[in-house]
Amino acid sequence: MVPAARLPVPLAVRPPPPHGPRPIASLRPLLGSPCIYATLRPAAAPLVLTRRGAKEHATISADAPAKVIDGKLVAKQVREEIAVEVARMKDAIGVVPGLAVILVGSRKDSQTYVRNKKKACEAVGIQSFEANLPEDSSEEEVIKHIASFNSDPSVHGILVQLPLPRHMNDENILNAVGIEKDVDGFHPLNIGRLAMQGRDPFFVPCTPKGCMELLHRHGVEIKGKRAVVIGRSNIVGMPAALLLQKANATVSIVHSQTKNPEEITRQADIVIAAVGVANLVRGNWIKPGAAIIDVGINPVDDPESPRGYRLVGDVCYEEASKVAGAITPVPGGVGPMTIAMLLANTLESAKRIHNFK
Ligand code: NAD
Repeated sequence: MVPAARLPVPLAVRPPPPHGPRPIASLRPLLGSPCIYATLRPAAAPLVLTRRGAKEHATISADAPAKVIDGKLVAKQVREEIAVEVARMKDAIGVVPGLAVILVGSRKDSQTYVRNKKKACEAVGIQSFEANLPEDSSEEEVIKHIASFNSDPSVHGILVQLPLPRHMNDENILNAVGIEKDVDGFHPLNIGRLAMQGRDPFFVPCTPKGCMELLHRHGVEIKGKRAVVIGRSNIVGMPAALLLQKANATVSIVHSQTKNPEEITRQADIVIAAVGVANLVRGNWIKPGAAIIDVGINPVDDPESPRGYRLVGDVCYEEASKVAGAITPVPGGVGPMTIAMLLANTLESAKRIHNFK
C-alpha cells in the first residue's frame, strides 16, 4: 500500500480566477491525513525575538520541532521602527510621508484591505490619501487620479487596489504610477531592475519583501543556500525568486508544470510557497532543518469555526513543522508582513525624495 504521505495531494484547489474570491476548499477529502489535524489545531507558541530579530541560525536538528517564525511579532517590531523614523523625519525636516490608495468599485474585501491600510498608516504617523471611484469609471479617469497623485508632493507612495474591474486593463493602469512612487513595486521597470545584476529597484513588492525580512530577522543564512520557490506569480513567486537570487541563493522555481516537485523541494534549505493550494507541500517534501515561508492563504470548510471556514497555508503545517528548522504559521506568518512592508516602502520613498538619511 502506498503510505499516506506519498499519496497525491488530496486537497487540490484549482488556481483561482484572476478576479474574484478564491474558492473555499473542503476539509472532508483530507480525513485520515494529519493535515486535517493541522488545520484544526492552534499554532505552537510564538518565538520571542530580540529587537532586530533572533540571530541564531534556523538550521537545527530534525528531531526538534520547528521554530515558529512569528510574522505578527516581526510586523509589530517593523511598525514600531517605522513610527520612530516617521517622527524623526517630521521633527528634522517637517515632512510627513504620505500614501495614496486608489480603489475602484465597491468590493467588500477590497474596501476592508483599504481600510486596514489606512489604519496601519495612521498608527505609524503616515498620512493617507484615498480616491474612491465608481465601478463603471473609465481607465482614463483612474489614470487621471494617478497622475494627480504622481504630481502631489505630499504623496510619496501610490497604490492601486487590485483587482480592478474587468473592463480595465491592469497593465495600463499600473504603468501610469510613477516609478519613484510605485510602493507596490509592480511597475515593469521596478521588476526589471530587480531582475538585473548591478541594478536595484526603487521598490520591492511587499509580500516577497516581507518573506525576505522574516528570513533575515530570524538569522536564516541565504548566501550559497539552495532555495525553492513554489509558484511564479508576478506579485509573489517571481519576485521572491529574484530576491533570493539577489541574496546569492541558488534558486529553483516549481510551478504547475513542474515534474517531481517534491524531489526538487526536498533539496531546498529555504522554501517559499506561494501557490494558493491548501496543504500542497507535505512533510516528505521538506529537507530536515529547512526554513519554510508559507505565503498561501486558503479558506477551507470548517464546521467548528463560527465562520464555517478557516484559513490554512500551502504547506501542511502539522507535517512540515516536524521536519523543518523554522516555519511560518498561517495565519500569523507572512500575512501581517505585507502591510508592514507597504509602510516601510512609503517611508523609504519619502526619505529618498527628500534625501533624508
Ligand atoms: P497566483 O494564482 O497568481 O499564482 C499561483 C502560482 O502557483 C502560479 O504561478 C501557478 O503556476 C502556481 N501553481 C498552481 N498550482 C500549482 C501546483 N500544483 N504546484 C506548483 N505550482 C502551482 O497566486 P498568488 O497571487 O501568487 O498567491 C499565492 C497564494 O499566496 C494565495 O494563497 C494567496 O492568497 C496568497 N497571498 C498571500 C499574501 C499575503 O500577504 N500573505 C499576498 C499575496 C498572496
